[in-house]
Amino acid sequence: MTALIEAHDIHLAFGETPALRGAALAADAGEAVAVMGPSGSGKSTLLHCLAGILRPDAGEVHFDGRRIDTLGEGARSALRRDRFGFVFQFGQLVPELTAEENVALPLLLGGTRRAAALAEARPWFARLGLDGLEGRRSGELSGGQAQRVALARGLVTRPRVLFADEPTGALDSLTGEQVMDLMTAAAREEGTTIILVTHEARVAAYADREVVVRDGRSTSLSGDRIAS
Ligand code: ADP
Repeated sequence: MTALIEAHDIHLAFGETPALRGAALAADAGEAVAVMGPSGSGKSTLLHCLAGILRPDAGEVHFDGRRIDTLGEGARSALRRDRFGFVFQFGQLVPELTAEENVALPLLLGGTRRAAALAEARPWFARLGLDGLEGRRSGELSGGQAQRVALARGLVTRPRVLFADEPTGALDSLTGEQVMDLMTAAAREEGTTIILVTHEARVAAYADREVVVRDGRSTSLSGDRIAS
């Protein structure tokens, strides 16, 4: 099977700092891949290249049979909006908006009318254990609740790929487990691919497979190692 999303031989430097020096990663449809490695090894940079946020200096990124790293900013931005979902370490909800407006935001940005966008957003509250919190603003939510709202926002467009960068990094371990359980269950039901950046082995254990990044280079580990 051809991978849904794939990066080959990615090189990227920030000025004099080489962040990626030949990194690679491939994920099939519906697969969850954890990107592991020490802080500063290039994990987030690799995620940003895969998601079309950064353009690598060299190497190729393909999504759904199409090369995407050579697309212009407008096309990559449309791809991010329509095909990809994102969850970051700190939920980054818009504080002026209610929880349900935050969840509906990617749909609103994509041109869906407000009533229709809110109607799409609502079922995610029951699904992620957030019933009754629709009208709250981010300041009135716990860290775990806010991150579940961010997860709903990441999934509301039914993306092909969900990019999660240290999604449990700001949560205590129990709340982090809840978020990972919900994320992996929802992605499995929707057939969404997950690219999960984490430095924690117990978070990576939710994925089907691991890719380890060290000094900007990656090594793919088989699922057997995770299972053992
Ligand atoms: P990780 O996610 O594994 O912690 P990063 O991908 O964030 O690693 O960073 C890889 C390297 O690139 C580090 O040396 C980091 O300091 C550097 N780096 C990352 N982002 C930037 C940036 N925007 N400007 C300059 N250097 C950066």
